[in-house]
Amino acid sequence: MPRMPACILCLTVVLAFSACTGNSFHSSVPTVPVYMDINILTEDPHFVTSNTGAYKEYTQKRYETDFIGYRGLLVYVGMDARYHAFDLACPHCLNRVGMQDMMYAVCPSCGEQYEMTYGYATPARGISREALRRYSTSFDGTILRIRN
Ligand SMILES: [Zn+2]
Repeated sequence: MPRMPACILCLTVVLAFSACTGNSFHSSVPTVPVYMDINILTEDPHFVTSNTGAYKEYTQKRYETDFIGYRGLLVYVGMDARYHAFDLACPHCLNRVGMQDMMYAVCPSCGEQYEMTYGYATPARGISREALRRYSTSFDGTILRIRN
């Protein structure tokens, strides 16, 4: 069966790639539970998707049912007029970043600046090799759901 090794090789490659993608992307920020529902209409009617550059930092649970990640959650309205959610932990040193002038989340320890404008949170200075850890968001017009 001369073709058999090629098939096994193909299968191995497919399995290797699917193992790398999946849900568990690599981040230096530890994997912890993230679960938060924000009722935009009742909790903050000004925090709407037309308000690009707006952000909220959650460093404390609002309710017992909240899970706010490793160092807290940063929710940001990008230029694409969508909500983006990130862990407030700097992937380089794991200290908490803080927003500065609606464009950058800055780490007070290593000095990295994460560029927030387009919702990618990529390091601008190159001190960190990773973007802020991203969490999934969905918005139905009333409730913003954040999960990991
Ligand atoms: Zn840092």
